[in-house]
Amino acid sequence: MISLKDLCPNQMNFDILTLFPDMFGSPFSGSILGKAADRGLFRIRPHNLRDWAEGKHKVTDDTPYGGGDGMVMKPEPVAAALTDLKRGSPRSRTLLMTPQGTIFRQEHARALAAEEKLIFICGRYEGVDERIRAMVDDEFSIGDFVLTGGELAAMVIIDATARLIPGVLGNRGSSETDSFSDGLLEYPQYTRPVEFGGDRVPDVLLSGNHAEIARWRRCQQLNRTLQRRPDLLRSAELSPADEVVLDEIRRDLAGVKE
Ligand code: SAH
Repeated sequence: MISLKDLCPNQMNFDILTLFPDMFGSPFSGSILGKAADRGLFRIRPHNLRDWAEGKHKVTDDTPYGGGDGMVMKPEPVAAALTDLKRGSPRSRTLLMTPQGTIFRQEHARALAAEEKLIFICGRYEGVDERIRAMVDDEFSIGDFVLTGGELAAMVIIDATARLIPGVLGNRGSSETDSFSDGLLEYPQYTRPVEFGGDRVPDVLLSGNHAEIARWRRCQQLNRTLQRRPDLLRSAELSPADEVVLDEIRRDLAGVKE
């Protein structure tokens, strides 16, 4: 019998090491990601770390050396779990969720979407034993704040990555124009009705002139990014025409302030 794996040789696996595997059910069922998973484009498999813990009590955490509040996750169950999960998967990346990691960005999602297997380690309590860091390929944070556990961070990264796997979004174009994909924020979007609360859809979008529409959208992207996230412009790919538009916007803004 032909297995799903034969039909989808590039099926991506998201394996999660967590003390709370049940958290991963509903966020991915239904919705566009749930349907893509049903079609075999990727698999999300939460694993209970306790299954790799030793002894009658299956202990996964312990008090910190040197004293202090809270508990620290032990290295042995994580090491044993990684050995099992990596078996037979020469191409896998292990990601530790930590507020001390690299801030996760769209470019990371794009790179991860090309992997075969991603293993997520979700910390809890005070975090993980420092020696776990030597077992991972990347350490990711989803922002400068502290969560109670790495599960939500893993879900955020899985969501952002899975939608970039070819075939997951019905209309492939829709992820290519998203914010950040070309280093800029996306242009404003409108749908029916043409007028809402006295606010009209810009005429250019109703014109049917595709070149004009593309020009307008690019200007809007540059304007938005300059006003909301000027930091992004430093690394965005800008054409000479973009630079001219940006200069005009900057001049306009300076004029408004004077
Ligand atoms: N004491 C640790 C924080 C522990 S929070 C410190 O100060 O660095 C418990 C767990 O939640 C972490 O081990 C990590 O897996 C997860 N976590 C918390 N905030 C996070 C964030 N911003 N990004 C990714 N994971 C986070």
